[in-house]
Amino acid sequence: MIPRTWSGLRPAVRDLAGALLLGAGLTRPERSARDLLTVVTLHRVLPEERLAAYPLRAIAVSTKELAFLVAFMREHYTCAPLSEAHGRWAGGERPPRPLAAITFDDGQLDNVEQARPVLEQAGLRATFFLPVEAVDSDRLLWHDRLAYAALRLLELDGARAAALLGPLPGSDHRAQVTGLVARSKALSDPERSSLVERVERAAGGDARPAWDGMMRWDQVRALAAAGHEIGSHSLSHPLLPGLSDQRLDAELAGSRTRLEAEVGRPCLAFCYPNGDCDDRVVAAVARAGYRLAVLTAWGPNRTGAHPLRLTRCDLQGPTTRDRAGRLSAARLALRLHPTFARLL
Ligand SMILES: [Zn+2]
Repeated sequence: MIPRTWSGLRPAVRDLAGALLLGAGLTRPERSARDLLTVVTLHRVLPEERLAAYPLRAIAVSTKELAFLVAFMREHYTCAPLSEAHGRWAGGERPPRPLAAITFDDGQLDNVEQARPVLEQAGLRATFFLPVEAVDSDRLLWHDRLAYAALRLLELDGARAAALLGPLPGSDHRAQVTGLVARSKALSDPERSSLVERVERAAGGDARPAWDGMMRWDQVRALAAAGHEIGSHSLSHPLLPGLSDQRLDAELAGSRTRLEAEVGRPCLAFCYPNGDCDDRVVAAVARAGYRLAVLTAWGPNRTGAHPLRLTRCDLQGPTTRDRAGRLSAARLALRLHPTFARLL
């Protein structure tokens, strides 16, 4: 349990420590991340007005926030798509600006419309992890579908939402939806699909805004042609440890074969849905021919890190801003630091 006084003081302490540490050069990546491979995790990139309508702020950044963090990465790191960055790092390269990769999970349209121009304007290339069946069907993944439908239901009919969803602490609808999505991760895949369908029905159907959706295959090919890396995020985005061996192989090898056929280049990198894996899953990822795989577990990678268990640094939500809401390089540097980030 964190004492209340600390949780109240924490943002102020963090901002002060962040400014002092960066001022003293201690959190400058050139100094603190020299031997590390830093892999940044992002999902949604939305312009302010869309961000205001998107229920899951914790997995989104605004286009402006992305531009700020891309500029920071460009100034302090040597950025490349994950396979290239990892290959150079594993080969012993330690440039003055340390190696890093920027990765995007889940393949939504905003990655192409919002993130791609920002990256390319900065001269950077990233890695995009795609869930193949969601791209095929242009259906958002379960967490987005559930979040949109639950938010609409809460706004339309609180009593019905309470009856269907059970108690959701607090009164802020977005926070309630975020809690619901977090709680629903513990359900089995069939239970979760059934919940999503029930909530969508109660909310009057698919509740996603007209601007939202998945990227199309022609856009995926254009990303690859521009030098970005396309990695696999499985076929159907299931929690892999619960699958049979046969289904596991189908999700891993099947998505790799499809992506290579669509994109016309080798698919070397895999991203575990929800970061979930165990020894059996890791062995299956190796068997399917992937060279690298990324987790959601936090942290820059140290020399000798297992290539199929690479950790990442989540820079989503308000992590680019100080407590007053200003974009803050000190906060970003702190968030990326291998030890201070855990303390603050
Ligand atoms: Zn995902």
